[in-house]
Amino acid sequence: MNHVPEMVSEQPDNGPSLAEVVSLSKRAGFVYPSSEIYDGMAGVYDYGPRGVELANNIKATWWNEIVRKRQDTVGLDAAIVMNPKVWEASGHVANFADPLAECRDCNTRVRVDHLLEAIGVIADDKMELSEINSLFTDHKTELKCPTPNCGSRDFTPAKQFNLLVATNIGNFTGDLDKDPVWLRGETCQGIYVDYKNVMNSSRVQTPFGIAQIGKAFRNEITARQFIFRTREFEQMENQRFVAPDKEMEEYETLRQERMDFFIKNIGLKPSNLQWFQHSKLAFYANAAWDIEYRYPFGFSELEGVHARGDYDLTQHGNASGSDLSYRDPHTGEKYTPHVIESSCGVGRTVLAVLCDSLKTEQLENGERTLLQLKPSLAPIKVAVLPLAKNKSDIVERSQRIFSAISGEFATEYDDNTNLGKRYRRQDEIGTPMCVTVDYDTLEDGTVTVRDRDTMKQVRIADSQLEQFVRDALK
Ligand code: ATP
Repeated sequence: MNHVPEMVSEQPDNGPSLAEVVSLSKRAGFVYPSSEIYDGMAGVYDYGPRGVELANNIKATWWNEIVRKRQDTVGLDAAIVMNPKVWEASGHVANFADPLAECRDCNTRVRVDHLLEAIGVIADDKMELSEINSLFTDHKTELKCPTPNCGSRDFTPAKQFNLLVATNIGNFTGDLDKDPVWLRGETCQGIYVDYKNVMNSSRVQTPFGIAQIGKAFRNEITARQFIFRTREFEQMENQRFVAPDKEMEEYETLRQERMDFFIKNIGLKPSNLQWFQHSKLAFYANAAWDIEYRYPFGFSELEGVHARGDYDLTQHGNASGSDLSYRDPHTGEKYTPHVIESSCGVGRTVLAVLCDSLKTEQLENGERTLLQLKPSLAPIKVAVLPLAKNKSDIVERSQRIFSAISGEFATEYDDNTNLGKRYRRQDEIGTPMCVTVDYDTLEDGTVTVRDRDTMKQVRIADSQLEQFVRDALK
């Protein structure tokens, strides 16, 4: 695999460390380890009160751009479990695997392609096991077990480990190995198998897209780097069905749109994004590029953008016996559409957004942690902060302001501790506006609105607050 980064911009950015992001996530309620009171569950995370809002805002932004704003794309929510024949036809039962080896000294399981990558040797996920094993042998003396205090160089040979996760839904034999039903390993298979139903029940014509957001499951050998690689995760996938002779033209358009999305709609810094081209392709694929984000551990995949030819529909057509061809209503021409896709992880986007926006600023009276989120993604848009907790008319006025805006904007009411601390709390969860209600509010009906980034305050009539917030969030 040839790493061919195509930089969008060459400005490096000194972002936060992963430890800082993990610490903020826990402290401020973005992400927690799953079932932590029982020592957690490796590779699984929960989104807390702030995290669920951030993730929902990311998903809504994606859905809006991909489905709502377009006339040629429709949405879908296919089930997580499907007939197991789907995963045989797609090739997952036979081939959805990563190369696994075990340290002979401490029994840690390692992903051989990752070990090789760490010393600069690219073992593409499209390589045969024999190719990976010969690279593994060639570089044996340079590789060592990553477990702290181990460092052994003695590994078993690599074998392919299938990533599909089995469930016993509808299986009453008590034997999971018997006719396993898989939790989906990627959401797009639901799209391919529903393609005919969507075509027959809507008026889509090529080129058209079917988009879906949903959970996927993979038995990742080494779940690591916080929410970057987890065993349960969510994907946002858009599969576009195009005429065979338009595949590459449509693909280039999709690539451009996807990079624009992360910059304009998600607000990631161009200097933290780059293209990576896979030079070794699956036999059916015509192009594969990834959008990579500069995570604290280096540039890594945020989204895959692929041109997959007619492989998916052909496989499912042949295996199911259904006719998955398309007839052009204008020319009468019949063909199996080619698929171009964008496939993105919600968790990887949340992590990119947190890394991109977390800062520490030195102030005269100490420092503040600031999450400089795009306002549309902020978990809370407005915080209402009464200046007196026990003064009934200030409390009553503040509650009225909260009720007036909270139906339209995610609003938080906070009357706990001194105002400085309340500002700090809102800054670190990225709240763009804080509204304070004080004695002047009772006198002249004005409130103070403080801007998160500049910390500048303006006084406006509380009757104008709704419009003020609406304008500020545009
Ligand atoms: P990687 O090479 O990092 O394992 P992949 O090439 O297997 O990723 P795809 O199968 O193309 O990933 O999945 C599409 C997207 O789904 C990825 O770009 C990523 O954002 C997300 N994704 C895949 N696997 C995981 C995972 N284990 N945890 C979180 N997100 C994931």
